Amino acid sequence: MSHIHVDRKVLEAGAVYRNLLVASTGLVPDEPTVVTTGCGVEAPYAQTSIRPESVTCLPCREHAAAEHLRYADQVSRLARMTGSVVSAEEAGEAARWARETAAKFAG
Ligand SMILES: [Zn+2]
Repeated sequence: MSHIHVDRKVLEAGAVYRNLLVASTGLVPDEPTVVTTGCGVEAPYAQTSIRPESVTCLPCREHAAAEHLRYADQVSRLARMTGSVVSAEEAGEAARWARETAAKFAG
């Protein structure tokens, strides 16, 4: 049985990022058919997941955990920028979600 990986850009594949992008730019990104995974191989999009409970590839889990922690820091910084489209409350929520998701991937 083949592993389930994460998209290298795991956060851009996720609903939170997509919604943020749609809200701020009005663009709806297409879902790719083939993606580069967190462990560096190309895999069909269908063989990837953004749900921690579904990802079975260990390097991908580690990648996803690191990416979510990085995202939590980024979104916290973003909220402090003048004219940010993200409110402090939204950013706090997104950062909390990202840290919780990182913990699930790391666990
Ligand atoms: Zn992988």
